[in-house]
Amino acid sequence: MTAQTMNVPAYAAPAAGAPLARTTIERRPVGASDVLIDVKYAGICHSDIHQARDGWGEGIFPMVPGHEIAGVVAEVGADVTRFNVGDRVGVGCMVDSCRECENCKAGLEQYCAQGNIQTYNALDKEGRPTYGGYSTRIVVDEAFTLRIPDGLSLDVAAPLLCAGITTYSPLAHWNAGPGKKVAVVGLGGLGHMAVKIAHAMGAEVTVLSQSLRKKDDGLRLGADHYYSTSDDATFEQLAGSLDLVVSTVSAPLPLDKYLGLLKTDGAFVNVGAPEEPVSLNLFSLILGRRSLAGSGIGGIQETQEMLDFCAEHGLGAEIELISADQINEAYERVLASDVRYRFVIDAGTI
Ligand SMILES: [Zn+2]
Ligand SMILES: [Zn+2]
Repeated sequence: MTAQTMNVPAYAAPAAGAPLARTTIERRPVGASDVLIDVKYAGICHSDIHQARDGWGEGIFPMVPGHEIAGVVAEVGADVTRFNVGDRVGVGCMVDSCRECENCKAGLEQYCAQGNIQTYNALDKEGRPTYGGYSTRIVVDEAFTLRIPDGLSLDVAAPLLCAGITTYSPLAHWNAGPGKKVAVVGLGGLGHMAVKIAHAMGAEVTVLSQSLRKKDDGLRLGADHYYSTSDDATFEQLAGSLDLVVSTVSAPLPLDKYLGLLKTDGAFVNVGAPEEPVSLNLFSLILGRRSLAGSGIGGIQETQEMLDFCAEHGLGAEIELISADQINEAYERVLASDVRYRFVIDAGTI
């Protein structure tokens, strides 16, 4: 048992906007309900870049980003019942919550009334900063540890812990499936998983992208149709035809135009969000009883369900594996939308 704090190598942003560099961080001792995980892979999420550059303010530095973590259990605490040494596991965007509020009790820890404890850039219940997956080891309570089924390789499974669950949750909640027409706005890290998952759920899938540049990819990943949103004909052609639109983009969209794509009772769900408030004409909702909604990651039980679903359907992320010394370069490429579709860090190079 590791009863003491551990010093482990990591890549951290020393200050807001500073390039990430190799450092050493302290991990807490392995508590009775904790598992110690040898990190094997960590995905690079767009929000890592946002936070490392302090786009949302109040960042805790040094910051070790990374909330798409896949690895292997190296040690378990005395009271751990669900995991053994050698198990393949994952950690997503949160590592704890109050566990007592209505949402936590309903398996909606992501909407914990006290706010869930994020995997990095947060303080744990003892007031220690949390550090994410750009490191070789992490200690996590077993209640927030996910099992990665054997059918999934750890490298392509890592991005499922954020990009996978962020898209799976709204698709499941709004009943994507056979007979449903689902559109995905944006074919990036989130969007490419939304396409794969919606297709595997049996929905008819349309990609709405700024250009037709990635059309071949989109169709290969499971889309049935692919349209450019810079062409106004797209909005005329698809008017009133969709049951569900999941927007993965963070650029502000002309919402009235997009809401016009929905059938009666259709829903437009945002999983990406612009920083600025948006405006819309409420008649876009009233006519056709349409909904405008948002969705954030998913609960722990639902995240496990997503991993099991992806394993069953052979769905991993499309990844570009990099070594840790390429993180800063990868950040620039993500900002330039120059990645197909997720960078994953080989933690063996940290
Ligand atoms: Zn993320
Ligand atoms: Zn709670």
